Amino acid sequence: MVTIKPKNVVDTIHSYPLGDSPEEIKRKYNLQKVRKMSDNENVYGCSIHVQKAIFRKVNNLHLYPNGRAEAVINKLSSFYKLKADNIFIGNGSEEIIRLLTRAYLNAGEEALMADMTFPRYETNVSIEGGKSIAVPLIEGVHDLTGMYGKITKKTKMVFICNPNNPTGTIVSMKDLVEFIEKVPPYVLIILDEAYYEYVSSADYLQTTPLLEKYSNLIILRTFSKIYGLAGLRIGYGMMAAPIVKELQKVKEVFNVNTLAQEAAVVALDDQEFVTECALKNEIERKYVCSYLHELRLKFFPSETNFIFICSHVPVVQKLTEKGILVRQMKMTGFSDAFRITLGMREDNEQFLTILKDLLSERAV
Ligand SMILES: *Cc1c(COP(=O)(O)O)cnc(C)c1O
Repeated sequence: MVTIKPKNVVDTIHSYPLGDSPEEIKRKYNLQKVRKMSDNENVYGCSIHVQKAIFRKVNNLHLYPNGRAEAVINKLSSFYKLKADNIFIGNGSEEIIRLLTRAYLNAGEEALMADMTFPRYETNVSIEGGKSIAVPLIEGVHDLTGMYGKITKKTKMVFICNPNNPTGTIVSMKDLVEFIEKVPPYVLIILDEAYYEYVSSADYLQTTPLLEKYSNLIILRTFSKIYGLAGLRIGYGMMAAPIVKELQKVKEVFNVNTLAQEAAVVALDDQEFVTECALKNEIERKYVCSYLHELRLKFFPSETNFIFICSHVPVVQKLTEKGILVRQMKMTGFSDAFRITLGMREDNEQFLTILKDLLSERAV
């Protein structure tokens, strides 16, 4: 038995809820097919050009990767018309969240975030001895006024997940502009835009042009979601050059692997793939939402590739047993809430058919 105690703070932290793997679920419930609609991955895969490009690099695996990820930075720099020193590449954008807390949070300092949002903010804040202040969402949407009201002298950073995971909602353009304008310059505003490319609303703020004016702004995006490269681990942050310098001090030297760097460069060149995925996703989103409406289920308006659904009868376990994996959530006033990643039409139809049956079984 291990009697050695970890740091006190580690004792209080929970591991990320990974859930059973599709293979385990297949075995457990004796299923032919399992649809993994739980992790917001791109159901359409990734660009074919990326797959080819990776083969070109397999002879180089004995070499360390480029420690500055220069090719990716240069590509992003011309893509966004930003200077190279405004860009930081991470081993997934999750790593950048960790590095931001690592570089900036002193013990006892505060980080503001929504009460239901990406759980890695809170975990990383805790690990650094910081204090998370959770501000309740209003109907699944960040309450920016409420968050502003919680800013104190101790506040070091505020996380705005836009669109928000797990609710899929965005904050309005006007609200976000006003918020960014008001927040004092000693507070880092971290805008997590992991689902940026999926947004179709005209009321979504384009934030990269604001970087020049606001030196406390940080924009996080990723290759894991619409680019379909979750398995490679690469994401990026855009921010003032001095912040990039601080992150470079605390990162692992070779944080982003060779194949991920190669893939990201090629993936950025295939914007056709991105546009096509966004369009297909939007069609499925409308289809599923109108069906949910018919079923009279509560859900939040989504600008992403997932939907947060609330049910008055328990359905998550039954969906699992029938091979539809979703992410269990909690919502007061409902017996079951979950987040489902949109699939292809066939996946979505299967999900809705099973859901309808479960709801009507309960009705009789
Ligand atoms: C998936 C996700 C990330 C992490 O993405 P990686 O680049 O794979 O680390 C960050 N933020 C949110 C809100 C996400 O949903």
